Amino acid sequence: MTYPIITKERHPDDTWRLPDYEQARAAFTWGEARTWLSGLPDGGGLNMGFEAVDRHVEAGHGAWEALRCVAADDSVTGVSYADLAAETSRFANVLAGLGTAPQDRVFTLLGRRRELYTAALGTLRAGRVLCPLFSAFGPEPVRQRMALGDARVLVTTEALYRRKVEAIRPLLPGLAHVLLVGAVTDPPEGTRVLEHLMAQASPVFTVPPTDPEDMALLHFTSGTTGTPKGAVHVHDAVVAHHATAAFALDVGPRDVYWCTADPGWVTGTSYGIIAPLTHGATLVVDEGEFDVHRWYRILDTQDVAVWYTAPTAIRMLMRATPRGGDRSLPGPYDLSSLRFIASVGEPLNPEAVVWGQEVLGLPVHDNWWQTETGAIMIANYASSDIRPGSMGRPLPGVHAAILERGQDGRAAVTDGHVRQVSRPGVEGELALRPGWPSMFRGYLNDRARYEACFVDGWYLTGDLAKRDRDGWFWFVGRADDVIKSAGHLIGPFEVESALMEHPAVAEAGVIGRPDPVVGAVVKAFVSLRPGYEAADALKRELLAFARQRLGPAVAPREIDFDQNLPKTRSGKVMRRLLRARELGLPEGDLSTLESPA
Ligand code: ATP
Ligand code: MG
Repeated sequence: MTYPIITKERHPDDTWRLPDYEQARAAFTWGEARTWLSGLPDGGGLNMGFEAVDRHVEAGHGAWEALRCVAADDSVTGVSYADLAAETSRFANVLAGLGTAPQDRVFTLLGRRRELYTAALGTLRAGRVLCPLFSAFGPEPVRQRMALGDARVLVTTEALYRRKVEAIRPLLPGLAHVLLVGAVTDPPEGTRVLEHLMAQASPVFTVPPTDPEDMALLHFTSGTTGTPKGAVHVHDAVVAHHATAAFALDVGPRDVYWCTADPGWVTGTSYGIIAPLTHGATLVVDEGEFDVHRWYRILDTQDVAVWYTAPTAIRMLMRATPRGGDRSLPGPYDLSSLRFIASVGEPLNPEAVVWGQEVLGLPVHDNWWQTETGAIMIANYASSDIRPGSMGRPLPGVHAAILERGQDGRAAVTDGHVRQVSRPGVEGELALRPGWPSMFRGYLNDRARYEACFVDGWYLTGDLAKRDRDGWFWFVGRADDVIKSAGHLIGPFEVESALMEHPAVAEAGVIGRPDPVVGAVVKAFVSLRPGYEAADALKRELLAFARQRLGPAVAPREIDFDQNLPKTRSGKVMRRLLRARELGLPEGDLSTLESPA
């Protein structure tokens, strides 16, 4: 099915405006953006913590609201930029007082709560390295990452410490300090109560001169394809955070902004904390759990203007609020403050874009990036039209290409050289020309793996994509997930999106099952919307539906119903696990699996 292009109306004059895409691409340079942000001609001295908080206080905007914490019971606490500067200074002084040194690693194991933001930004302003973990990780993933990352400080809660850290503490001899936030009834041995330390610390901490190449963040990848890797990012990345948030998220000063990503994932830090604050926005900090009503309620009561979320969340809303439905949702909620919606992490099915337009009154803007790229690279530029199903175009300052692929789906390398695909519509490996500020500087302790990402002056992403004749990029699949069947290369995304056009289908995950005749047959795992029953008749109907949309070469040959598709904590369907289960193979690293069965 082809979806019509969604055209944009210009914003009313009183909101943030962007130059046209072509104009911005022609005029933009990272160097100028760096100079502008740092305020220095050589662009030096950038510090993520400072650019996110102090810059606004120095400009006289200390009273602006930086955080708006919405507790599980919906009570709201606001934190001004001036308060945030004082709190993060106290935290920086606590770190210094403990005897930690610049570049020491500070881990957080916390859900979304005020103290997480204080710790994260305080760590950055102190020139220590921030490494946020998912609070839902079990003890082993926590141990693995803290050991690999050489954790010196951990910030967590008493309950999380007892459940996940106490038993593994002896295995982490380098972990010198554990700071507990929130109510502490009985601090376990070897831990301190952060609140007490904060009360004694000075609210003034001058950001030390920071080299833009100093390490700032250590982020583990989602582990979708294997063991998570630790990507190293430096302070200079804030230049990319700032610029891309304007281009791809349309966020500006005092916008109420809500990023639903968990801070344990790169999106939840780069765009959940740093980027929007550099713009002087107000961040909604949702301390509750996902719940369709709660989410609509927050959009309504907090007057959210810019909303950054993920396909899986949108699909959950779609499940509860179908197109052409009875409008009992979002019916009673007033979403009129909402100006912009964006999504990342997984391919965004065109159906979801159109759903946004119809049900929320706004299309969803897809954007693509990786933990390694540190910032959004390819996106539906805020003021451009949308082609549903396309991840958009390279942002200003970003140079992307499609490289001719070899047998294994990855770029074909001959004598150290690769070739760009020149014809529109031809699939190949997506590659980027290095040189943007938030590019990762290495995988921690794995030089060889890092170097293997670069060939012939390109960074190879491991994703397959194609470009249309107007320069829009279309995601095909991860090289590892692509299915080779009877001479065709099939991207799971295409098949999943087609299935999602059927009203019964809430979500789908598609894999190749080895077959002696055709190489692999396409098999789909499908979760159903409420009101549909997992019956053979429906299976047959879906098979026929997919065949009609996709043709017999690409359509799935088999369908299984599965209401609990395995997902990473960052919301990605783990196709490798579907494959392993299907074939009875070892399940591999499951540390990032959302709810291990
Ligand atoms: P690992 O590298 O450990 O296997 P991961 O690649 O899932 O995990 P992330 O860095 O969180 O770790 O995710 C980046 C990947 O997510 C991209 O390479 C791409 O495959 C996928 N992705 C992100 N955004 C999009 C998007 N808009 N459309 C399609 N795929 C996307
Ligand atoms: Mg990856």
